[in-house]
Amino acid sequence: MRALLFDTYGGPLTVREVPAPDPAPGGVVVRVGASGVCRSDWHAWQGHDPDVVLPHVPGHELAGTVAAVGADVRRWRGGDRVTVPFVNACGRCAQCAAGEHQVCTRQTQPGFTHWGSMAEYVALDAADVNLVALPDGLDAATAAALGCRFATAFRAVVQVARVQPGEWVAVHGCGGVGLSAVQVAVAAGARVVAVDVSPAALRLAADLGAEHTVAEPAVIPELTAGGAHVSLDALGAAVTCENSIRCLRPRGRHVQVGLLPPAQGRPAVPMDLVVARELQVLGSHGMAAHTYPALLGLIAAGRLRPQALVTRQLALDEAGAAIAAVGRDPGIAVVTRF
Ligand SMILES: [Zn+2]
Ligand SMILES: [Zn+2]
Repeated sequence: MRALLFDTYGGPLTVREVPAPDPAPGGVVVRVGASGVCRSDWHAWQGHDPDVVLPHVPGHELAGTVAAVGADVRRWRGGDRVTVPFVNACGRCAQCAAGEHQVCTRQTQPGFTHWGSMAEYVALDAADVNLVALPDGLDAATAAALGCRFATAFRAVVQVARVQPGEWVAVHGCGGVGLSAVQVAVAAGARVVAVDVSPAALRLAADLGAEHTVAEPAVIPELTAGGAHVSLDALGAAVTCENSIRCLRPRGRHVQVGLLPPAQGRPAVPMDLVVARELQVLGSHGMAAHTYPALLGLIAAGRLRPQALVTRQLALDEAGAAIAAVGRDPGIAVVTRF
């Protein structure tokens, strides 16, 4: 099969012929129809993820068609159209038993713990636990964004922050996950302040319904008459994490969505404000496959439109350059030609 590989961290990303994977007994191999280009792929390429072993194939936001099925798989067969959360849960640990598959203690992640979906085929573990059937009306390019950024934003806004109608929600960083969060928060009836240094990203946020778009987060308490009720660091950087916590009103909720690899420096979390304002500091990490029906229902009803965030469709030969340039162009890029 054709796959995008890197042999050294930060080194060349090249498309080469490699052997296609076989399914594990409980897993499947999916013929990839679409694979999103995400900041996490850039982190893997940069060597920020300790799970990655070289040489490596990135890619974790995927949709496609089941091509081969392991002997122990019961729910899936060849030809099924599927997507999968980027956290593939084991289905057997204490967290999985509690339904919290997104923090499974024995999770695998395509594109991190093994070769990912920037290839014609990808192997996925524990298929009965992790695969999500795609509705007929949902194309692969749109569905690929659900595996990481859109589902992660949905979980952060709806399941973790429990945003209520009329609340102010600040979104720091308007890349793929941030723009997804803007759309989900607006659909939940919130009033949104979008923060980014890129005018193009802020224009997209305004198109998605953000009431205010600002480059400077210090104005948020004034815009929101006392601070945001909920604030998300959707980028994952020391400065956006701190800005997110500082812009909250008393008893506000900060949700950390963007990854914060220690190699890029630890944020100075203002714990004095956390205690003085009784702030809540929450983490959000992907979304369990069994909670996808609520998300898919809102998409089918037209209340959420992840397809509006897919701004570029690429060939696999263009994916390396896109990973190297993550963050330069607003919106979501998806590889759809392999
Ligand atoms: Zn588990
Ligand atoms: Zn991702």
